[in-house]
Amino acid sequence: MKPMYINGQWVAASDGATFDVYNPATEEVIESVPNGTAEDALKAIAAAKAAFDEWRWVPAVERADMLHEAANKIRAHFDELVRLNTLEEGKPIPEHEEEMEWTLNTLRYYAELARNYRGRVVPSAERSQFNFVLKEPYGVAACIVPYNYPMLLMIWKVAPALAAGNTVIIKPSSHTPLATLRLAEVVFDHFPPGVVNVLTGRGSRVGDTLVQHPDVPIIAFTGSTAVGQHISRLAADRIKRLHLELGGKDPFVLAPDADIETAVEAVAYAALINAGQVCTSTERVYVPAEKLKAFASAIADYVKGLRIGPGLEPTTDMGPMAAPGYRQKVEEHVAEAQAKGAKILAGGRRPPQFDRGWYYEPTVLVNVDHSMKIMREETFGPCIPIMGYRDFDEAIRLANDTEYGLGAVCRTNDARFAKRFFEEVRAGTIWINDPLTDCYGGPFGGMKMSGNARELGEEGLESFLETKHVHWDFDDSVKPYWYPY
Ligand code: NAD
Repeated sequence: MKPMYINGQWVAASDGATFDVYNPATEEVIESVPNGTAEDALKAIAAAKAAFDEWRWVPAVERADMLHEAANKIRAHFDELVRLNTLEEGKPIPEHEEEMEWTLNTLRYYAELARNYRGRVVPSAERSQFNFVLKEPYGVAACIVPYNYPMLLMIWKVAPALAAGNTVIIKPSSHTPLATLRLAEVVFDHFPPGVVNVLTGRGSRVGDTLVQHPDVPIIAFTGSTAVGQHISRLAADRIKRLHLELGGKDPFVLAPDADIETAVEAVAYAALINAGQVCTSTERVYVPAEKLKAFASAIADYVKGLRIGPGLEPTTDMGPMAAPGYRQKVEEHVAEAQAKGAKILAGGRRPPQFDRGWYYEPTVLVNVDHSMKIMREETFGPCIPIMGYRDFDEAIRLANDTEYGLGAVCRTNDARFAKRFFEEVRAGTIWINDPLTDCYGGPFGGMKMSGNARELGEEGLESFLETKHVHWDFDDSVKPYWYPY
């Protein structure tokens, strides 16, 4: 059993309970970890709260040095961390290498940004006065992380939170806690005890305590909209600061001028990276009606050539899904679409060459419409449902016909289509031509039911800082505007 990390100590769950972590490529158990309890959550909260009293006053430049040191340690353990993350999450090694590179550089980005930022001076009403805005850490930040990018989505919270002077309790997904625990061992070990804690445990077993406790003023959550709603309800009693990064149903629009051949590769990448388990995966594709047939048949041929296999195999293009429940949801969406008249041009099944592993073939569907779950609900799997549109007005209307608003992609070299797309589509990130590429300075997050937060960029740091205005009058004489009137 790999213990969890609370207050600089490696500990088991208070009741000794554990759960298993599986390799999705083989369905074998890799390791077991503590199934933390409410009591363990309370210990983590107490440790993080005690550590905050010192950590908040550590000079920003010293905190920045510690973040840089963490980045250096990731570099030193890079291959080992990538391998462990691949074992538990399943996507191919190159995708995990990219995730780890981003993780490392996010630490560097926030180390530099935070050491230069404490607030601002604002104009005062009177000459004797001085007004300024202080940016202060909240205290203990609960960082609740999903399974699909266990390193990246953790560090997008933890790096700005620590840089800003908060202490953190990381709650990794029960599917992917191992690389995070290893980080605590070899990357975060130079932080004072209690500043970084890793609390493992299934969902609400530890989550509800973290979310409700008065000493956790901010909850940074990335995950499903359903769990986000649950957390919002629990946190409402204490009016907590909620930082929510939730689900999506991202559209990909090929504008009338888009080249079909290059669009095939762009759409396949956007829909199939990490077996479609990306919050900003392309989940719906809209193509000019007259090009639909040619595009659909070209992308169906293309995805049939992709190599499915274990993430650790260097020849793998697409790995398994992370857990059986996620594959089951994909199967349900595909079956429902088929029952309503959708046609499958590729995939639509578990690959017959594997008798173990939670694999699902890249699946291309046509004859789809917005009555189907596959066009409305988050599928979170390797599916490419394609629909035709008559004109660009309709393409934009269809792109916006969703309760989500995380990302949206358009391929075009016509500035008029691009401008309409980035102005009229309601999504937190718009990609023109190059889907799913993030940018350290570019805030990432959702509109509508995709959440209320931004990670990365200055906004990502701001998320972990509370605003205080100070009004200071150097003249303490009686004011003419005091009583009596
Ligand atoms: P999930 O909602 O099932 O779990 C996310 C995390 O919440 C896990 O650590 C889980 O253990 C924890 N959790 C579950 N119940 C909880 C509770 N009652 N209290 C506190 N924590 C609880 O999501 P998932 O299946 O791990 O991830 C997939 C989802 O995440 C998809 O919906 C995807 O769109 C979303 N996601 C969003 C973004 C984004 O930036 N918007 C990024 C990645 C993933």
